[in-house]
Order: sequence, then structure tokens, then C-alpha cells
Amino acid sequence: MSVCYVGLGANVEDPEAHITRALKAFQQSPQWTLLTVSSLYRSQPLGPQDQPDFYNAVAALTTSLPALDALDWLLNQEQQQGRVRLRHWGERCLDLDLLLYDDQVIEHERLSVPHRELCKRSFVVMPLLEIAPDLMLPDGRFLRDISPEFDGQLQRLSPPVIDI
Ligand code: AMP
Repeated sequence: MSVCYVGLGANVEDPEAHITRALKAFQQSPQWTLLTVSSLYRSQPLGPQDQPDFYNAVAALTTSLPALDALDWLLNQEQQQGRVRLRHWGERCLDLDLLLYDDQVIEHERLSVPHRELCKRSFVVMPLLEIAPDLMLPDGRFLRDISPEFDGQLQRLSPPVIDI
């Protein structure tokens, strides 16, 4: 079993419901065990500004899937929930990112772990810190020592409605 952290994000079509649905899909899958989920966080969009605010959360899980298969599972779940790619950093009803996979560093044409933008974004760093305050990145830095460059006036909301 590998421990991993997944970032969940959405900003259209009832974003909170999409995040909750994805969390339930993890719970229903024999290949994942959902350990913890952060609060939901709301922030202004990072890309084009003519789109709604984003909702984000981070989940800690264990998985029996190798990293590339875990990525494929996430991409498939996005498709199941009707994600359509319109524009770069644009609106989406669900975005699932593999942030960390054990303490592995992976540079594959389809997968970079840690996720390339992990340390740059408050909407990833803050929920991750909430559920893993002592987390050390594979390069030996503590997550709590990271100062993300993008804040987007991040607001912490209540946790997603899900039983763990
Ligand atoms: P995006 O929709 O902007 O999140 O980009 C999705 C694409 O990024 C996928 O097709 C993946 O192949 C690629 N990718 C690379 N590293 C990761 C990662 N750590 N988590 C999710 N997608 C990744």
C-alpha cells in the first residue's frame, strides 16, 4: 500500500457536490482507502478571471495502485463526472491531482510527482498542512516552511459532508 495525497478542485456545476462525489468514489473503490479530508477552501481563480471562484480540498489516502494507474483512475473519475477541458486554467467541474505518492519523485511524460504546482498554490498548501502539519516533501523541506506565491484570498470553509 502507498500513502498519497490528492488535490480536489472545482468551480462550476455545484463544485462542492462534485468534490463530495469524488470523495465517495474513493470510498467505494476497493483500490483506495480514504484516511482524512481537509476543509473546503475557496479562492479566486488562478487563470482567466471571468470564471467563478474555486473550491479546493486535499485528501489523504492509501492505494494499492501503482502511481501511473492511480493517475489513470483520477483522470477516469474526472471523465465520469463530466469534465470537459475548455481552456488552460479555466473552469472545471472537477480536477483531481496526484500531489504526493509516498516519498517518491516521479518524472514521467504523463506524471510529475510531487505535483509541479504543489508548493506554489495556497489552495493546495493550506489544506495539505491542515491534514498533515508535519509533512516533509521528498526533497527534505517541511511543507510548513513553504510560502506559496499564489494566494487568491483563500478562505477556509467547512469540511465536505462525508462520513469517514
Ligand atoms: P490538468 O487537467 O491541468 O490537471 O492536467 C492534467 C494532465 O496533467 C494529465 O493528463 C496528466 O497526464 C498530467 N499530470 C502530470 N502530473 C500530474 C499529477 N501529479 N497529477 C495529475 N495530473 C498530472
